[in-house]
Amino acid sequence: MSTLKTWQELPHGGVILEAGSAAKYETGSWRTWKPITHREHCIHCLACWEYCPEDAIVLEDGQDPSGGTRKFVKEVNYFHCKGCGLCVRECPVNKEGKVQALGFVRDEV
Ligand code: SF4
Ligand code: SF4
Repeated sequence: MSTLKTWQELPHGGVILEAGSAAKYETGSWRTWKPITHREHCIHCLACWEYCPEDAIVLEDGQDPSGGTRKFVKEVNYFHCKGCGLCVRECPVNKEGKVQALGFVRDEV
């Protein structure tokens, strides 16, 4: 007879005990690949920021050509970037295939 616990008896996993605590966790330590910004090709559509599950795409305020203020991609926060590559895959400039606004390289730790 099996002594293994059933799924109903196992302790719950993935429980967040403290609200708003994600900022403390260095999810970047999981990374084996990392995105690299190529700002000269970036159209600042912010798709990478929307898709990033770790909120690791850092934005900054700037001016658009008509003088209004808007957000621009500044850099990647490597403390939180876990290297999942979603931003690289979803970038519309990358999808066009001529140049890369976000490269993806091995992370030499
Ligand atoms: S998805 Fe690509 S083009 Fe859009 S802001 Fe991010 S890096 Fe720039
Ligand atoms: S690789 Fe993943 S975690 Fe890192 S910035 Fe891109 S979407 Fe965010």
